[in-house]
Amino acid sequence: MRLILLGPPGAGKGTQAARLVEKYKIVQLSTGDMLRAAVAAGSEIGQKVKGVLERGELVSDELIVSIIADRVDQDDCKNGFILDGFPRTLAQADALAELLEKKNLNLDSVVQLEVDEKILLARIEQRARESEEVRSDDNAEALKKRLSVYNEQTAPLISYYKDKGSLKAVDGMKSVEDVAAQIDAVLEPYNHA
Ligand code: AMP
Repeated sequence: MRLILLGPPGAGKGTQAARLVEKYKIVQLSTGDMLRAAVAAGSEIGQKVKGVLERGELVSDELIVSIIADRVDQDDCKNGFILDGFPRTLAQADALAELLEKKNLNLDSVVQLEVDEKILLARIEQRARESEEVRSDDNAEALKKRLSVYNEQTAPLISYYKDKGSLKAVDGMKSVEDVAAQIDAVLEPYNHA
């Protein structure tokens, strides 16, 4: 199974992805995690993107597409993957379609977590308070930036995938278990395992 989890920061994509990894035995490809790992390792890429992440801006399409293109070729992706945090722009979505076509792979579904932005803010503030290792972009200023970047650059992907017929929207404001049940229901037709 290959799918995209779409939704603004704090919508619960990471939480749901972790569960789907277990259920379908597929890998979670979180571009945010990959970039944070690069920053922590102090690699060349990490040094380049550190400030961008801290400000809540997006790294270049070119960079992120090349990271994903390499990643999906790895052995552990054979059974499928969940894209979490990618694509985030229309250019990334086009690049993804092109690269999947080249590799003869199809995308089963795009699951959109629909949420209320005001409640999101509260959730992220709570995450910042509870987490021991606070993300450097979980502060009010960077969060506001991340939400506006989402609305400007990523939200257009909703109609993009709706037009392609692959979008499945679920109510992301329900409990973790309830959201999980909704996702399972929309993925049921693709569960050939
Ligand atoms: P996330 O963990 O998905 O919220 O991502 C954290 C940060 O990593 C974002 O605010 C961006 O700076 C960067 N990032 C992650 N994924 C992408 C992407 N697909 N395109 C551009 N920047 C990204």
